[in-house]
Amino acid sequence: MVQNDKLCGWINNIPLRTNINSVSKDEECDYLIVGAGYTGLSAARKLSEIHLNKKIILIDAQLAGEGASGRNSGYLVDTTLNDGFTSNKELDNYKNKTDIYKLGIDYVKKFIKEYQVDCDWSESGKYFASSKIEDKKILINFSKILSKLNFRHDLFSENELSDKLGTSFYKLALYTKGGILLHPGKLVRAMIDSLPKNIKLYENSTLLNWNKNQDVILCNFKNANITTKKIIFCTNGFLKSLGIKSNYNFPLTLTASMTRPLKENEFKSIGEPDEWGVLPVRPMGATVRMTKDRRILVRNTAEVFNPFKMKESEIKKRSINQYMSIKKRFPELPSDIIESSWSGVVSRSRNGSQIFEKIDKNIFVAGCYNGSGIGVGTLFGEQIAIKASDENSSEINLIESRTKPTWLPPEPFLSIGVKARLMYEKLKAKSEI
Ligand SMILES: Cc1cc2nc3c(=O)[nH]c(=O)nc-3n(C[C@H](O)[C@H](O)[C@H](O)COP(=O)(O)OP(=O)(O)OC[C@H]3O[C@@H](n4cnc5c(N)ncnc54)[C@H](O)[C@@H]3O)c2cc1C
Repeated sequence: MVQNDKLCGWINNIPLRTNINSVSKDEECDYLIVGAGYTGLSAARKLSEIHLNKKIILIDAQLAGEGASGRNSGYLVDTTLNDGFTSNKELDNYKNKTDIYKLGIDYVKKFIKEYQVDCDWSESGKYFASSKIEDKKILINFSKILSKLNFRHDLFSENELSDKLGTSFYKLALYTKGGILLHPGKLVRAMIDSLPKNIKLYENSTLLNWNKNQDVILCNFKNANITTKKIIFCTNGFLKSLGIKSNYNFPLTLTASMTRPLKENEFKSIGEPDEWGVLPVRPMGATVRMTKDRRILVRNTAEVFNPFKMKESEIKKRSINQYMSIKKRFPELPSDIIESSWSGVVSRSRNGSQIFEKIDKNIFVAGCYNGSGIGVGTLFGEQIAIKASDENSSEINLIESRTKPTWLPPEPFLSIGVKARLMYEKLKAKSEI
C-alpha cells in the first residue's frame, strides 16, 4: 500500500540503511506503535524510557522515516500565517497554537543536543513573501497579531528582499526570527539511529487490519499477526485509510522538487545569498528554499490524490511546474537544474487543528499536523506515549486545551468540497505558484 519511491532528494542525500527487519512471525507485545516518522519514533523513544521492561514494537509499511518525515521542506515553524482574527477567542487559540509550536521547537532542539545530531540546523528565520503588493494588508494584519504576542518580526520591501534572497520576484515579506530550517532526512535518520535497544523496529510491514477483542488488539500483517495490549497510531496522512478519525482528517498529497547545488558562477549570478526559506502568503502559493548547500527547493502543489503513491510520470508533470516556479524567480539559472522531484502525504483537518486522543480503551492516536509536523509531530509523539502510559504532563494539558478538529462530511462530498476549495485557493495564488 505505502511504498517508498526512491525519488526524494533529501533521502538520496543520506546513506542507505541496512539491517531491515520485517514482521515474519506471530508476536505479542505491550505496546505497538504504527508509523515510524517523527511521531512514531518520538513515541517509541519516550515509551522505552518509561517502560524499560515492557515489550515495545514499532512498525512501518515502508522504510522508517521515509514517509512525509523524510520528504518535507524542512521548516521547523514558530508561527504560521493567519488572516487576522475577529475575536479574542480566536486570538487565544492562535496563541495556544504558537505555544505548541514553541514546545515542538524545544523538543527537537533537546533531541539534537542530547544526541549531537547534525541536521543542517539553521536559525535563519523565515519569510512570508508575496509578489503582490495587494497582500500588504494581510501582512500588516499578521504583524499586529505577532506584535500582540511578542514575536520578533520585520517587514521587508522589494529591494531589501532582492538582496537577501537573490531574486526580485517578491515585492514584500514579513520575516519571523524564530523559524528554523533543517535537513528533514538527516533529522529523522538520527531519530532512527538513536532508537533505544528495547524497541523492536519492523519495516516494509503494512498493518492491513486490526480489531479489538476484549483487552487485546489483534493486528494483521501479510505474513503474521501481532497481538498487543495497547496501540498508538502515528500514521498521519494514512490515518483515514486505516479508519482512524475518518470524519475529522483527510490526506493531501504534496509534491516538491530540488535542484542540484548551484555552481559557483550561478550562485554569484544571484548575489550569493545566505540560506533562506520563504513561505507563501496565499495558501496555495509556493514554498521556496535556498539550502545550506545552495540547492533551491520548491513545493507548490497540494492535491487530493488517490492512490496516495504518485507514479513517476505524474511527478514529472509537477516537476515541470516546479521548474517554471524556479524560472520565474531565477531566470538566470539553466533549465536542466532540477535534480529530484517527489511526493509525500500529509494529513489535514477542516479547521487546522491536530489530533491527539485516546479513541478507545488502550487505543491512541496523534497526527494531522498539516505543514508543522517536524516540531509538533516530535512533541505529540512524546506526549501520546505519556498519555498511553496513563500519566499526565503540562504539555498534554496545553495540547488538550486546543480547539479539536471539526467534523467533515462523508465521501464523495468531502473530496468534491476539498477539490473545489483547492481550485479556488490555486486561482487566488496563481501568480505565487
Ligand atoms: C512535500 C512536503 C513538505 C512538507 N513541509 C513541511 C515543513 O516544511 N515543515 C513541517 O513541519 N512539516 C512539513 N510537512 C509535513 C510533515 O512532513 C509531516 O507533518 C510529518 O512528517 C508527520 O510526521 P508523522 O511521523 O506523523 O508522519 P509520517 O512521517 O508520514 O509517518 C507515518 C508513517 O506511517 C506509515 N504507515 C502508513 N500506513 C501504514 C500502515 N498501514 N502500516 C504501517 N505503517 C503505515 C508510513 O509508511 C509512514 O512512514 C511537509 C510534508 C510534505 C509531504
